[in-house]
Amino acid sequence: MTREEELATNLKDVREKIADACERAGRDPQEITLVAVTKTFPASDVRLLAGLGITEVAENRDQEAGPKAAECRDLPLNWHFVGRLQTNKVKSALKYAGVVHSVDRPKLVSALSAEAVARGGPVEPVTCLVQVSLDPPEADGRGGARPEDVPGIAAEIVEAPGLALGGIMAVAPLGEDPGPAFERLAELTKELRAAHPDATIMSAGMSGDLAEAIACGATHVRIGTALLGGRRAIVR
Ligand SMILES: *Cc1c(COP(=O)(O)O)cnc(C)c1O
Repeated sequence: MTREEELATNLKDVREKIADACERAGRDPQEITLVAVTKTFPASDVRLLAGLGITEVAENRDQEAGPKAAECRDLPLNWHFVGRLQTNKVKSALKYAGVVHSVDRPKLVSALSAEAVARGGPVEPVTCLVQVSLDPPEADGRGGARPEDVPGIAAEIVEAPGLALGGIMAVAPLGEDPGPAFERLAELTKELRAAHPDATIMSAGMSGDLAEAIACGATHVRIGTALLGGRRAIVR
């Protein structure tokens, strides 16, 4: 099997899983945006996925994403940034990313806004999602704002020049059933939409928990392994 055939098969399987989950949840699969997480995989895979109809791709490290996005500049792709973003990487990340899923602190909002304004020109605002932590408060270090901080960060994004509030994003907690965690996320999504009706995105669900996320209302699923295969540990 060629790599293209392999990716085509995986993509078909993922689309079927999404369709099944939608059917069970009484939702329309058109409501779900599939974001292909291509971290650790080469630009050639991104090119093949684009050929198969993927338009949304995501990366979690700027050092890797920058060169990959540059290699794929000729393709009709929207790049999403889904990893922890340091403020000193914002300038580089906004060269390719139109959506940042991991906005979890006011300092990052100001850095993104400053860069979005500085680059000038007739560019679209950067779509920002507030990443919320679904971990217990004492679990630290996986990124994401505390739930009670979401409204404040959202309001800062709305006020920030060059940025648009797209919605909310979360990763299911480790070692816990994702269902209840995604229900908490759905509640936060509802509150966010009540305050900001245009902030419709709920980015949740990865290869292992996309059905649970769709059942709870996810609009964007971020799929790596199920599409591209297992990632090798990065040794450096
Ligand atoms: C890697 C990653 C994904 C994809 O995870 P898989 O389990 O490989 O589908 C989704 N979201 C984020 C934030 C990631 O870092």
